Amino acid sequence: MKAVTFQEVGVMAVSDVPDPTIEQPGDAIVKISCCAICGSDLHLLHGDIPLTPGYICGHEFTGTIEETGSGVSGFKTGDHVVGAFHIACGTCGECRRGNQHLCRRGGVLGYGPMTGNLPGTQAEYAKISFADNNLRKIPEGMDEEKALFCGDVLTTAYGAVVNGQLEPGESVAVIGCGPVGIMAIQSAQALGAGDVYALDLLPDRRKLAESFGAIPVDAGDNPAGAIRDLTRKRGVDVVIEAVGGNHGTIELAFQLVAGGGRISAVGVTNQPTFEYPLLLGLGKDLTFRIGLANIHRDFDATMELVRSGRIDPLPVVSHRMALDEAVKGYQMADQRQATKILLKPS
Ligand code: NAD
Ligand code: ZN
Ligand code: ZN
Repeated sequence: MKAVTFQEVGVMAVSDVPDPTIEQPGDAIVKISCCAICGSDLHLLHGDIPLTPGYICGHEFTGTIEETGSGVSGFKTGDHVVGAFHIACGTCGECRRGNQHLCRRGGVLGYGPMTGNLPGTQAEYAKISFADNNLRKIPEGMDEEKALFCGDVLTTAYGAVVNGQLEPGESVAVIGCGPVGIMAIQSAQALGAGDVYALDLLPDRRKLAESFGAIPVDAGDNPAGAIRDLTRKRGVDVVIEAVGGNHGTIELAFQLVAGGGRISAVGVTNQPTFEYPLLLGLGKDLTFRIGLANIHRDFDATMELVRSGRIDPLPVVSHRMALDEAVKGYQMADQRQATKILLKPS
Protein backbone atom coordinates (compact mmCIF):
# COMPACT_ATOMS: atom_id res chain seq x y z
CA MET A 1 0.00 0.00 0.00
CA LYS A 2 0.95 3.66 -0.20
CA ALA A 3 1.74 5.63 2.94
CA VAL A 4 3.34 8.91 4.00
CA THR A 5 6.71 8.09 5.55
CA PHE A 6 9.29 10.15 7.39
CA GLN A 7 12.67 10.08 5.59
CA GLU A 8 14.83 12.58 7.46
CA VAL A 9 14.31 15.93 9.18
CA GLY A 10 12.44 18.13 6.70
CA VAL A 11 11.71 15.28 4.25
CA MET A 12 8.51 13.24 3.95
CA ALA A 13 7.74 10.84 1.09
CA VAL A 14 4.82 8.82 -0.24
CA SER A 15 6.22 5.27 -0.26
CA ASP A 16 5.16 1.69 -0.94
CA VAL A 17 5.04 -0.18 2.38
CA PRO A 18 3.65 -3.58 3.44
CA ASP A 19 -0.09 -3.75 4.15
CA PRO A 20 -0.92 -3.98 7.87
CA THR A 21 -2.26 -7.31 9.13
CA ILE A 22 -4.32 -8.46 12.10
CA GLU A 23 -1.91 -9.47 14.86
CA GLN A 24 -4.08 -9.49 17.98
CA PRO A 25 -7.74 -10.54 18.44
CA GLY A 26 -8.72 -6.94 19.23
CA ASP A 27 -7.21 -5.48 16.04
CA ALA A 28 -9.16 -4.09 13.10
CA ILE A 29 -7.86 -3.11 9.68
CA VAL A 30 -9.39 0.16 8.50
CA LYS A 31 -9.41 1.15 4.84
CA ILE A 32 -8.69 4.88 5.15
CA SER A 33 -11.04 7.18 3.24
CA CYS A 34 -9.87 10.48 4.75
CA CYS A 35 -6.81 11.43 6.79
CA ALA A 36 -5.20 14.77 7.55
CA ILE A 37 -2.02 16.72 8.16
CA CYS A 38 -1.99 18.05 11.72
CA GLY A 39 0.02 20.83 13.32
CA SER A 40 1.46 17.97 15.40
CA ASP A 41 2.87 16.39 12.22
CA LEU A 42 4.90 19.56 11.63
CA HIS A 43 6.79 18.81 14.86
CA LEU A 44 7.73 15.46 13.26
CA LEU A 45 8.80 17.16 10.04
CA HIS A 46 10.99 19.55 12.04
CA GLY A 47 12.62 16.73 14.00
CA ASP A 48 11.26 17.98 17.36
CA ILE A 49 9.94 14.46 17.99
CA PRO A 50 12.34 11.66 16.93
CA LEU A 51 11.32 9.16 14.22
CA THR A 52 13.16 6.45 12.30
CA PRO A 53 13.37 6.64 8.47
CA GLY A 54 10.47 4.86 6.75
CA TYR A 55 8.10 5.32 9.69
CA ILE A 56 4.43 5.87 8.70
CA CYS A 57 3.05 9.21 9.96
CA GLY A 58 -0.48 10.48 10.56
CA HIS A 59 -3.02 10.03 13.34
CA GLU A 60 -6.32 11.55 12.15
CA PHE A 61 -8.57 9.32 10.06
CA THR A 62 -11.92 8.02 8.96
CA GLY A 63 -12.52 4.90 6.91
CA THR A 64 -14.35 1.62 6.60
CA ILE A 65 -13.64 -1.60 8.45
CA GLU A 66 -11.84 -3.98 6.11
CA GLU A 67 -11.23 -6.85 8.51
CA THR A 68 -11.63 -7.54 12.23
CA GLY A 69 -9.79 -9.82 14.65
CA SER A 70 -11.72 -12.57 16.45
CA GLY A 71 -12.03 -10.45 19.60
CA VAL A 72 -13.69 -7.41 18.01
CA SER A 73 -17.41 -7.36 18.79
CA GLY A 74 -18.50 -3.77 18.10
CA PHE A 75 -17.58 -3.49 14.42
CA LYS A 76 -17.95 -5.52 11.24
CA THR A 77 -16.57 -5.26 7.72
CA GLY A 78 -17.98 -2.23 5.93
CA ASP A 79 -18.75 -0.15 9.04
CA HIS A 80 -17.94 3.55 8.56
CA VAL A 81 -15.70 4.70 11.41
CA VAL A 82 -13.64 7.50 12.90
CA GLY A 83 -10.76 6.76 15.25
CA ALA A 84 -9.09 8.46 18.20
CA PHE A 85 -5.51 9.58 17.56
CA HIS A 86 -4.63 7.91 20.83
CA ILE A 87 -4.80 4.14 21.18
CA ALA A 88 -5.91 2.89 24.59
CA CYS A 89 -6.65 -0.64 25.79
CA GLY A 90 -9.71 0.38 27.81
CA THR A 91 -8.93 -2.07 30.63
CA CYS A 92 -5.63 -1.17 32.34
CA GLY A 93 -5.60 0.78 35.59
CA GLU A 94 -5.18 4.17 33.91
CA CYS A 95 -7.96 3.42 31.41
CA ARG A 96 -10.29 2.32 34.21
CA ARG A 97 -9.56 5.58 36.05
CA GLY A 98 -10.64 7.46 32.92
CA ASN A 99 -7.11 8.43 31.92
CA GLN A 100 -7.11 6.63 28.60
CA HIS A 101 -4.51 9.04 27.22
CA LEU A 102 -2.14 7.59 29.82
CA CYS A 103 -2.93 3.95 28.89
CA ARG A 104 -0.08 1.61 29.78
CA ARG A 105 -0.59 -0.46 26.63
CA GLY A 106 -1.44 2.33 24.20
CA GLY A 107 0.23 5.21 22.43
CA VAL A 108 -0.23 7.79 19.71
CA LEU A 109 -0.70 6.65 16.13
CA GLY A 110 2.08 7.78 13.81
CA TYR A 111 4.06 9.64 16.48
CA GLY A 112 7.16 7.52 16.88
CA PRO A 113 9.00 5.63 19.61
CA MET A 114 8.26 8.12 22.40
CA THR A 115 4.56 7.25 22.20
CA GLY A 116 4.30 3.53 21.43
CA ASN A 117 5.89 3.40 17.95
CA LEU A 118 2.50 2.73 16.35
CA PRO A 119 2.36 3.05 12.53
CA GLY A 120 0.25 5.99 11.38
CA THR A 121 -2.83 6.60 9.32
CA GLN A 122 -1.66 8.74 6.38
CA ALA A 123 -1.94 5.53 4.39
CA GLU A 124 -4.35 3.39 2.41
CA TYR A 125 -4.87 1.04 5.38
CA ALA A 126 -4.14 1.16 9.09
CA LYS A 127 -4.22 -1.40 11.87
CA ILE A 128 -6.13 -0.15 14.91
CA SER A 129 -5.46 -2.04 18.14
CA PHE A 130 -8.19 -2.47 20.76
CA ALA A 131 -10.60 -1.47 17.98
CA ASP A 132 -13.72 -1.70 20.13
CA ASN A 133 -12.29 0.98 22.41
CA ASN A 134 -10.66 3.30 19.88
CA LEU A 135 -13.15 3.55 17.01
CA ARG A 136 -16.60 5.12 16.81
CA LYS A 137 -19.23 4.48 14.14
CA ILE A 138 -19.98 7.58 12.10
CA PRO A 139 -23.74 8.07 12.46
CA GLU A 140 -25.86 7.79 9.31
CA GLY A 141 -25.99 11.17 7.58
CA MET A 142 -22.96 12.65 9.37
CA ASP A 143 -20.27 14.04 7.06
CA GLU A 144 -17.10 11.98 7.47
CA GLU A 145 -14.86 15.03 7.09
CA LYS A 146 -16.62 16.56 10.11
CA ALA A 147 -16.36 13.29 12.03
CA LEU A 148 -12.58 13.18 11.43
CA PHE A 149 -12.15 16.22 13.68
CA CYS A 150 -13.71 14.36 16.62
CA GLY A 151 -10.77 11.92 16.67
CA ASP A 152 -8.30 14.71 17.39
CA VAL A 153 -8.49 18.45 16.70
CA LEU A 154 -11.98 19.29 17.94
CA THR A 155 -11.80 16.93 20.90
CA THR A 156 -8.32 18.19 21.82
CA ALA A 157 -9.63 21.74 21.75
CA TYR A 158 -12.85 20.93 23.59
CA GLY A 159 -10.89 18.98 26.21
CA ALA A 160 -8.53 21.92 26.68
CA VAL A 161 -11.49 24.16 27.50
CA VAL A 162 -12.93 21.52 29.85
CA ASN A 163 -9.52 21.27 31.56
CA GLY A 164 -9.59 25.06 31.89
CA GLN A 165 -12.75 24.59 34.01
CA LEU A 166 -14.59 27.29 32.11
CA GLU A 167 -17.68 28.61 33.86
CA PRO A 168 -20.51 30.24 31.90
CA GLY A 169 -19.79 33.88 31.14
CA GLU A 170 -16.06 33.66 31.80
CA SER A 171 -13.58 35.18 29.38
CA VAL A 172 -11.13 33.12 27.35
CA ALA A 173 -7.94 33.86 25.41
CA VAL A 174 -6.84 31.35 22.81
CA ILE A 175 -3.15 31.62 21.86
CA GLY A 176 -2.65 30.20 18.36
CA CYS A 177 -5.47 30.13 15.81
CA GLY A 178 -4.60 27.04 13.84
CA PRO A 179 -7.27 24.35 13.62
CA VAL A 180 -6.91 23.51 17.34
CA GLY A 181 -7.20 27.16 18.37
CA ILE A 182 -10.18 27.80 16.10
CA MET A 183 -11.95 24.79 17.57
CA ALA A 184 -11.05 25.92 21.09
CA ILE A 185 -12.89 29.15 20.25
CA GLN A 186 -15.91 27.17 19.04
CA SER A 187 -15.80 24.86 22.06
CA ALA A 188 -15.50 27.74 24.52
CA GLN A 189 -18.56 29.33 22.94
CA ALA A 190 -20.49 26.04 23.02
CA LEU A 191 -19.59 25.72 26.72
CA GLY A 192 -20.89 29.21 27.53
CA ALA A 193 -17.87 31.53 27.39
CA GLY A 194 -18.28 35.30 27.51
CA ASP A 195 -15.66 37.21 25.50
CA VAL A 196 -13.21 35.03 23.58
CA TYR A 197 -9.93 36.63 22.46
CA ALA A 198 -7.98 35.07 19.59
CA LEU A 199 -4.20 35.63 19.42
CA ASP A 200 -2.09 34.77 16.39
CA LEU A 201 0.82 36.26 14.48
CA LEU A 202 -0.88 35.79 11.11
CA PRO A 203 -3.63 38.19 9.96
CA ASP A 204 -5.52 35.49 8.02
CA ARG A 205 -5.66 33.22 11.09
CA ARG A 206 -6.98 36.13 13.17
CA LYS A 207 -9.55 36.86 10.47
CA LEU A 208 -10.73 33.24 10.54
CA ALA A 209 -11.04 33.44 14.33
CA GLU A 210 -13.01 36.68 14.00
CA SER A 211 -15.44 34.97 11.63
CA PHE A 212 -16.36 32.73 14.60
CA GLY A 213 -17.09 35.73 16.80
CA ALA A 214 -13.73 35.91 18.60
CA ILE A 215 -11.99 39.23 19.26
CA PRO A 216 -8.71 39.22 17.30
CA VAL A 217 -5.44 40.25 18.98
CA ASP A 218 -2.11 40.53 17.15
CA ALA A 219 0.26 38.22 19.02
CA GLY A 220 3.21 40.07 17.49
CA ASP A 221 2.29 43.48 18.89
CA ASN A 222 2.32 43.55 22.70
CA PRO A 223 -0.53 41.04 23.17
CA ALA A 224 -0.30 41.23 26.97
CA GLY A 225 -0.88 44.98 26.83
CA ALA A 226 -3.76 44.54 24.40
CA ILE A 227 -5.50 42.01 26.64
CA ARG A 228 -4.94 44.23 29.67
CA ASP A 229 -6.64 47.11 27.86
CA LEU A 230 -9.47 44.95 26.51
CA THR A 231 -10.25 43.47 29.93
CA ARG A 232 -9.89 46.66 32.01
CA LYS A 233 -6.61 45.38 33.45
CA ARG A 234 -8.16 42.17 34.76
CA GLY A 235 -6.90 39.55 32.29
CA VAL A 236 -8.90 36.51 31.21
CA ASP A 237 -10.31 33.66 33.25
CA VAL A 238 -9.08 30.87 30.98
CA VAL A 239 -6.08 30.84 28.64
CA ILE A 240 -5.78 28.08 26.06
CA GLU A 241 -2.25 27.62 24.66
CA ALA A 242 -2.53 26.01 21.22
CA VAL A 243 0.82 26.80 19.61
CA GLY A 244 3.43 24.50 21.13
CA GLY A 245 7.11 24.46 20.41
CA ASN A 246 9.41 26.99 21.96
CA HIS A 247 7.61 30.20 21.10
CA GLY A 248 7.26 31.88 24.50
CA THR A 249 3.53 31.23 24.41
CA ILE A 250 3.45 29.56 27.84
CA GLU A 251 5.11 32.63 29.33
CA LEU A 252 2.56 34.79 27.50
CA ALA A 253 -0.29 32.72 28.97
CA PHE A 254 0.88 33.68 32.48
CA GLN A 255 0.76 37.35 31.50
CA LEU A 256 -2.81 37.07 30.17
CA VAL A 257 -4.48 35.14 32.96
CA ALA A 258 -6.60 36.88 35.62
CA GLY A 259 -6.56 36.19 39.34
CA GLY A 260 -8.10 32.78 40.05
CA GLY A 261 -7.63 31.94 36.38
CA ARG A 262 -6.63 28.72 34.65
CA ILE A 263 -4.06 28.08 31.94
CA SER A 264 -4.74 24.99 29.86
CA ALA A 265 -1.92 24.15 27.45
CA VAL A 266 -2.14 21.60 24.64
CA GLY A 267 0.61 22.74 22.25
CA VAL A 268 3.17 19.99 21.65
CA THR A 269 6.66 20.93 22.76
CA ASN A 270 10.02 19.23 23.28
CA GLN A 271 11.08 21.96 25.71
CA PRO A 272 11.79 20.03 28.93
CA THR A 273 11.21 22.88 31.40
CA PHE A 274 10.13 26.47 31.76
CA GLU A 275 10.51 28.93 34.59
CA TYR A 276 7.29 28.90 36.61
CA PRO A 277 6.47 32.43 37.81
CA LEU A 278 6.03 31.45 41.45
CA LEU A 279 5.46 34.87 42.92
CA LEU A 280 2.93 35.80 40.26
CA GLY A 281 1.21 32.45 40.79
CA LEU A 282 1.11 32.98 44.55
CA GLY A 283 -0.35 36.43 44.11
CA LYS A 284 -2.90 35.38 41.54
CA ASP A 285 -3.96 31.90 42.73
CA LEU A 286 -3.32 30.32 39.33
CA THR A 287 -3.80 26.86 37.89
CA PHE A 288 -1.49 25.62 35.14
CA ARG A 289 -2.39 22.42 33.33
CA ILE A 290 -0.74 20.73 30.35
CA GLY A 291 -1.25 17.35 28.75
CA LEU A 292 -2.04 15.27 25.74
CA ALA A 293 -5.72 15.26 24.89
CA ASN A 294 -7.90 12.65 26.60
CA ILE A 295 -9.87 11.92 23.42
CA HIS A 296 -11.79 8.98 24.88
CA ARG A 297 -13.16 11.17 27.69
CA ASP A 298 -14.77 13.69 25.33
CA PHE A 299 -15.17 11.71 22.05
CA ASP A 300 -18.91 11.08 22.39
CA ALA A 301 -19.62 14.67 23.47
CA THR A 302 -17.88 16.18 20.45
CA MET A 303 -19.49 13.66 18.08
CA GLU A 304 -22.87 14.90 19.35
CA LEU A 305 -21.88 18.57 19.11
CA VAL A 306 -20.95 17.99 15.46
CA ARG A 307 -23.84 15.67 14.59
CA SER A 308 -26.35 18.16 16.02
CA GLY A 309 -24.79 21.04 14.06
CA ARG A 310 -23.73 22.94 17.20
CA ILE A 311 -20.09 22.90 16.01
CA ASP A 312 -18.98 22.77 12.37
CA PRO A 313 -15.26 22.02 11.94
CA LEU A 314 -15.22 22.34 8.15
CA PRO A 315 -14.48 26.09 7.87
CA VAL A 316 -10.87 25.33 8.91
CA VAL A 317 -10.38 22.97 5.96
CA SER A 318 -8.48 24.87 3.28
CA HIS A 319 -7.34 22.03 1.02
CA ARG A 320 -8.32 18.52 -0.01
CA MET A 321 -5.62 16.51 -1.79
CA ALA A 322 -4.87 12.99 -2.95
CA LEU A 323 -2.60 11.03 -0.60
CA ASP A 324 -0.07 11.03 -3.46
CA GLU A 325 0.23 14.82 -3.04
CA ALA A 326 1.06 14.62 0.67
CA VAL A 327 4.64 15.88 0.26
CA LYS A 328 3.33 19.09 -1.27
CA GLY A 329 0.71 19.19 1.48
CA TYR A 330 3.36 19.04 4.20
CA GLN A 331 5.27 21.87 2.50
CA MET A 332 2.15 24.01 2.27
CA ALA A 333 1.21 23.36 5.90
CA ASP A 334 4.77 24.13 7.02
CA GLN A 335 4.86 27.38 5.06
CA ARG A 336 1.41 28.37 6.41
CA GLN A 337 -0.13 28.30 2.93
CA ALA A 338 -2.89 26.04 4.25
CA THR A 339 -4.96 25.97 7.43
CA LYS A 340 -5.98 22.31 7.36
CA ILE A 341 -5.26 19.75 4.64
CA LEU A 342 -7.35 16.61 4.25
CA LEU A 343 -5.74 13.74 2.32
CA LYS A 344 -7.78 11.20 0.38
CA PRO A 345 -6.06 7.88 -0.34
CA SER A 346 -8.43 7.00 -3.19
P1 NAD B 1 -0.95 24.84 13.57
O1 NAD B 1 0.52 24.71 13.41
O2 NAD B 1 -1.82 24.68 12.38
O3 NAD B 1 -1.34 26.21 14.26
C1 NAD B 1 -0.51 26.89 15.15
C2 NAD B 1 -0.90 28.37 15.11
O4 NAD B 1 -0.10 29.08 16.07
C3 NAD B 1 -0.64 29.04 13.75
O5 NAD B 1 -1.81 29.72 13.33
C4 NAD B 1 0.52 29.99 14.04
O6 NAD B 1 0.48 31.16 13.25
C5 NAD B 1 0.26 30.31 15.50
N1 NAD B 1 1.44 30.83 16.22
C6 NAD B 1 2.75 30.52 16.05
N2 NAD B 1 3.51 31.22 16.91
C7 NAD B 1 2.66 31.99 17.64
C8 NAD B 1 2.84 32.92 18.68
N3 NAD B 1 4.06 33.22 19.17
N4 NAD B 1 1.75 33.53 19.20
C9 NAD B 1 0.51 33.25 18.72
N5 NAD B 1 0.28 32.36 17.72
C10 NAD B 1 1.35 31.75 17.19
O7 NAD B 1 -1.28 23.73 14.67
P2 NAD B 1 -2.68 23.07 15.15
O8 NAD B 1 -2.97 21.88 14.31
O9 NAD B 1 -3.71 24.11 15.34
O10 NAD B 1 -2.17 22.53 16.56
C11 NAD B 1 -1.80 23.46 17.57
C12 NAD B 1 -0.91 22.81 18.59
O11 NAD B 1 -1.63 21.80 19.29
C13 NAD B 1 0.31 22.09 17.96
O12 NAD B 1 1.44 22.27 18.81
C14 NAD B 1 -0.12 20.65 17.98
O13 NAD B 1 0.98 19.77 18.00
C15 NAD B 1 -0.88 20.60 19.29
N6 NAD B 1 -1.78 19.48 19.49
C16 NAD B 1 -1.75 18.89 20.71
C17 NAD B 1 -2.58 17.85 20.99
C18 NAD B 1 -2.55 17.25 22.35
O14 NAD B 1 -3.01 16.14 22.53
N7 NAD B 1 -2.03 17.95 23.35
C19 NAD B 1 -3.46 17.37 20.02
C20 NAD B 1 -3.50 18.01 18.78
C21 NAD B 1 -2.66 19.08 18.52
ZN1 ZN C 1 -3.58 15.80 15.12
ZN1 ZN D 1 -5.20 1.05 29.02
